[in-house]
Amino acid sequence: MKRTIRDVDVRGKKVVLRVDFNVPVQEGKVADDTRIKEALPTIRYLLDNGARVIILSHLGRPKNREPEFSLKPVYEKLKEYIDKVSFVPDCVGDEVERKVQELKDGEAVLLENVRFYKEETKNDPEFARRLASLGEIYVNDAFATAHRAHASTHGIAGFMERKVAGFLMEKEIKYLSHVLKSDERPFTVILGGAKISTKLGVIKNLLSRADKILLGGAMIFTFFRSQGIEVGKSLVEEEMLDEARRILSDAGKKEITFILPVDVVVADKPEEGVKTEVVSKNEIPQDKMGLDIGPVTRRIFQEALKGSKVIFWNGPMGLFEVPPFDEGSKSIAQAIVEETKKGAISVAGGGDTAACIHKLGLSGFTHISTGGGASMEFIAGEKLPGIEVLEDA
Ligand code: ADP
Ligand code: MG
Repeated sequence: MKRTIRDVDVRGKKVVLRVDFNVPVQEGKVADDTRIKEALPTIRYLLDNGARVIILSHLGRPKNREPEFSLKPVYEKLKEYIDKVSFVPDCVGDEVERKVQELKDGEAVLLENVRFYKEETKNDPEFARRLASLGEIYVNDAFATAHRAHASTHGIAGFMERKVAGFLMEKEIKYLSHVLKSDERPFTVILGGAKISTKLGVIKNLLSRADKILLGGAMIFTFFRSQGIEVGKSLVEEEMLDEARRILSDAGKKEITFILPVDVVVADKPEEGVKTEVVSKNEIPQDKMGLDIGPVTRRIFQEALKGSKVIFWNGPMGLFEVPPFDEGSKSIAQAIVEETKKGAISVAGGGDTAACIHKLGLSGFTHISTGGGASMEFIAGEKLPGIEVLEDA
């Protein structure tokens, strides 16, 4: 475990807090403030305990200080939740330094997008040193950016005496570690999403830990193809066929239940309002594409989830963005919520998976990770640079 803000005395101290405020902005307004809300417990704790808080974040991938990547709209939103916060349209330089010197205990300032400097993503040591010089304690709460070794997530820590995790970072590490380390059984994994290629590390790491792996999403068609099954116009990663065969054979050698769907929902094209049909996995018509798991599969998955003590879900079961192809994901998500009520620890990870759960309006998961790529790397067993640099407890 990592040290957290509870382990340092922040009163009267200047705290450089890295958060992930990389939120969608539309027409100058924050369209989804989930990530802002997730950072509030840390910000409020620091302010309530008399810290002077200097908030850093990135937004998008600016090339040249384009105004659409400004954190100003985020500031407008943040102000709705936090009273004593101001904004400076830069993250280093005279104006920033002046503002930081003026900060009083219990006040915060949000600085402009750190990626307005190309030094940020290059993890430039001089830029990192300048950011570090703004305060005395470094707090990283930006789990969703922790897989990047950038100046404000990695380099900065090398110039700070104290470097600890915020509450969101702590929560992410706690639950994702639980998925990887808990001895509680059975441990059931549901994997879906578009491609096997982006999930290889996750699949391999979980193959040696899970009791059951249930597969859905477009990736099943690559598995089916690798078994010689015709999949019509469904998405297939041709270059992953060997890998798919290897995964199936590895799973066969382990004491793991590896369940592929038995039926799928197919249609002519991935569009709302098209005629759909349920077919067995062996009878996918040549001119149709598989867009969701079928009703029999949903029941099998629901049964398989019963009694689970630990559940990890990554990857939607179908093309959830286009109804009715969100039905498979919905039934699985509901089943996970049911098991959670009975005491299972349920964790969801992945950008689209989180979006899918939010779209379905479901609550009741133990933890929905705010990290897409970061949660995938964590579950794949990789070390994340933004976590590595923090003090061990
Ligand atoms: P995550 O971001 O949660 O890791 P992925 O990026 O791997 O998830 O996959 C999510 C995408 O997979 C979604 O856009 C979803 O529409 C798509 N998808 C899932 N099943 C299918 C399918 N049968 N056909 C086409 N796309 C699918
Ligand atoms: Mg995705």
